Order: sequence, then C-alpha cells, then structure tokens
Amino acid sequence: MPDTVTLLIDPVPADAVDVDLGATFRPVDATEPALRVGELSTQRGDGIFETIGVVDGHAQEVRPHLERLRNSARICELPEPNLAQWEAAIATALAGLPQTGEFGIKLVLSRGVEHGPAPTAWLAASRAADFSGPREHGIRVVTLDRGYDRGAAERAPWLLLGAKTLSYAVNMAAIREAKRRGADDTVFVSSDGYAMEGPTSSVILRRDGVYATPAPSGAILHGTTQQSLFEHLAATGERVEYRDIPIDELRTADAAWLVSSVRLAAGITALDGEPMPYDAETTAGFNAYLLTPRD
Ligand code: PLP
Repeated sequence: MPDTVTLLIDPVPADAVDVDLGATFRPVDATEPALRVGELSTQRGDGIFETIGVVDGHAQEVRPHLERLRNSARICELPEPNLAQWEAAIATALAGLPQTGEFGIKLVLSRGVEHGPAPTAWLAASRAADFSGPREHGIRVVTLDRGYDRGAAERAPWLLLGAKTLSYAVNMAAIREAKRRGADDTVFVSSDGYAMEGPTSSVILRRDGVYATPAPSGAILHGTTQQSLFEHLAATGERVEYRDIPIDELRTADAAWLVSSVRLAAGITALDGEPMPYDAETTAGFNAYLLTPRD
C-alpha cells in the first residue's frame, strides 16, 4: 500500500444537496504537475489549510479541524467549505493509507486561479516524521518577538491573525532563527510581553498544579490538540484555564509544552538557554492520550 494519497478536490458550495460527493474529487500522482501556474495559493499564499494527525488508520479530531477550516474561510472571505465533502475526501484518503503508523493529512483550500471563477482545493496525506525524540526528550525553545500586541486582531482584521492561512513563510523563518540560536523551536511573544503560540503549535504551562494556555484572543490559532488535552485534563480532575500569560510566567513555570496535531506534546527543556523543569511522566501521559483515537 502506498505511503501517500493526493486528491484534487472540486469544492462544492456548503449548502449543496443531492451531490455525489465521491465524484467531486479524484486521486492524482503527487509527483506529477497538478496545479495551474496562476494559482493564488502558490503566487500569494492566498488560501487556508489544516493538518490532521492520523494514528493507525484513525484521523484525529476531524470535526474540530473542519470547524477551524470553516472559521479560517470566514476570516479570509473564501467560500464556506462543504464539511461533508471534506469528510468524504478524508475517508477516501484513510482507505488508501496503511492502517498502522502515523500520517498527516493536509487539507488546502485556495482562492484559485486569478480571475478564475472557482476556488481550488486538494488533500495530501503522507507518512509523519519520527517525532519520538521531541516527545520523549523534549525541545529547546527561544522566545521571539511577534511584532504586534494582543489587541492587533481586533484592531486590524485584515492581518487575518486567527486564520490558518497558507502564508507560513514568517513561521518557517522563526523556526530557522530558533535553530540559529541553538534551539529547536520558538514561542512568539506579543509586543506587549505575552506568550502567544509556537509557529506550528500551541503553548501550555503548569504553575501551582494548574494548566494554562493563552486565551484565544483572535491573535493566535485555537489549537485542536490543546483543546483535546484540556478536555482530557478536566475530565481527569485537573484544573485548566485560559488567560493572558506574561512571558516571565513561562520562564518560572513548573513545566511547559508545545502541542500540535502531528508532533503531539513536546516538553520544553530550556527557554532562551535557561534550563526548565521537564516532567517526563506527565509528557508521556499526554502523548499516550493523544495517540488514542480521538474525535
Ligand atoms: N498555532 C499555530 C500557528 C499552528 O500552525 C498550529 C498547528 O499547525 C497550532 C497552533 C496547533 O494547532 P493544532 O493543535 O490544531 O495542530
């Protein structure tokens, strides 16, 4: 069975009825050309995406990912996605992947070709990298200035801050800067001094036995992994809270993690070169939970 599945999708309107959804997408060879050069996703990063983790044939948290795709589309003024169509495409991809091991399914919805009438969309599934190192031994993190304050999303909605847009060049540059500084990853800090998120992950810390994550202000993405983990923690009697987190609180936390859909939970072992307490047992528990089938 191949390790990749790529589907080109012809997006149907959100309110479409009596459509044979299976006929709205088709497999393509990912090594062959499939997009037109006028694609605004490639020319301008003008589109949105989601990355869903797959564990042993189960796609994790599909609904929360699709709800976030819909929210990103709303922010970017793209046509509302038909969630049933995306679910059908995901089911087709899962059927074409090996039923053991970890994979990532990327969903992309682009504004389409310039002056073209319709958006374009595709799904690309492939085997996940081996993240046993970060999961078991943690990551070194540096803080980097995000260049705007927590209120920027409300003040300047055209910055599209709460949307998961394809424009990740800045996020990738931040990871390169982290590596230049001898670290593995980064936590963005707002210009008014608050912890925000990683370039591809959410931040969670624990202080005095309470788990906290930055309040979803519209300036950061609301992570599906963080939400799933908080539901699990609350269900097992732990205290969780959303609030503003001054960056110095992260420095003095009992433990902290970056969490995301495919790498899952990675404990922070050092922040800006200073060692941080690393809770191996809790991290192992987080990852054991995150590897169970979740909807
Ligand atoms: N924040 C940003 C900027 C991200 O890119 C991601 C995931 O890629 C996350 C947070 C974590 O989201 P999730 O847990 O849904 O993967």
